[in-house]
Amino acid sequence: THRIVLAERPQGAVTPANFRAEDAALPPIGDGQFLVGANYLSLDPYMRGRMDDRKSYAAPTPVGGVMEGEIIGTVLESRHPGFSVGERVAGRLGWQTHAISDGTGLVKLDDRFKPITTAVGVLGMPGLTAYSGLLTLGKPQPGETVVVAAATGPVGSLVGQIARLYGARAVGIAGGAEKCAYAKQELGFDAVVDHRSPTFADDLAAACPDGIDINFELVGGAVWQAVLPLLNNFARVPVCGLIAQYNGSSGEQVDHLPAAMRIILSRSIMMRGFIVGEFWDQRPKFLDEVSQWISEGKIRFREDIVEGLDNAPAAFMGLLEGRNFGKLVVKID
Ligand code: NDP
Repeated sequence: THRIVLAERPQGAVTPANFRAEDAALPPIGDGQFLVGANYLSLDPYMRGRMDDRKSYAAPTPVGGVMEGEIIGTVLESRHPGFSVGERVAGRLGWQTHAISDGTGLVKLDDRFKPITTAVGVLGMPGLTAYSGLLTLGKPQPGETVVVAAATGPVGSLVGQIARLYGARAVGIAGGAEKCAYAKQELGFDAVVDHRSPTFADDLAAACPDGIDINFELVGGAVWQAVLPLLNNFARVPVCGLIAQYNGSSGEQVDHLPAAMRIILSRSIMMRGFIVGEFWDQRPKFLDEVSQWISEGKIRFREDIVEGLDNAPAAFMGLLEGRNFGKLVVKID
């Protein structure tokens, strides 16, 4: 197998030196095992957390260990009664071209996944995150204002579109004119604000004349600072991601907590962090509903496909800086 391992832990921003490509021989498959050949690797922001050695909801990747990640693959050899050669699967087999599995944690992919890459995007982990977090924790009501950043990415784009299907007004935040235009014209956000603009906070206030009822938090940092004063009484804030902080910089120098606590108290705000695994039991209903909405043209999605496993580190560094445009996936030859 050809694979990418964690060469050293990042100090702040991720650099190419944090990764190493290597080749390794796999043992022959044993009884109850099968060999998967990877077709695609999903790149997701949570991988940044695994590169650090600190207490979190999941154990860190050891130095020298294969980078963690979900692949979409094909069964190439099998000595497992439940998986036959040619079947398509998805699961956390890491940044590598081949892996041996006993089926633990893998899902089989039927022809609802069109294209197959949707299994790690709109119909995969990010899609379930948006669906379950918005509907279970945010509970959008007709006429309410829902704000979400990273609005062209797999989580944010689905949050905005589902909010609109529930009759809410969706305000997106994205980086740069091209992403903003796409969010407005293709994804149907009611308003879109560019967080790279020097007038961002004022632009957001202008885009939310009735305040904010749901802030689906994906970014933290300056975006959260701009959202906070606009929150309405009884606003809900599902806290799903803090990507502005993942490289260890933004927002940590200044202590905004007292001001935030005062707003949370005085406006009866509900903040609730979550990790998508909590809502895994909603996956069947999520798949039925969202694939139906896609087939009816009510939900759109965009994928950003990079060629070649060796380009995964650079693509991942770009993800943390907003250089991806849509769900980031690496195609493996
Ligand atoms: P995206 O494909 O949307 O990629 C991340 C995007 O974040 C970038 O493209 C960029 O978009 C935006 N971004 C990066 N840095 C900043 C910044 N400093 N300020 C504002 N925006 C920034 O990723 P996903 O949809 O996969 O993930 C979105 C968030 O959801 C992440 O925080 C992720 O960790 C979280 N998440 C949480 C899960 C959970 O279980 N809690 C599960 C899945 C995802 P732009 O250029 O538009 O700014």
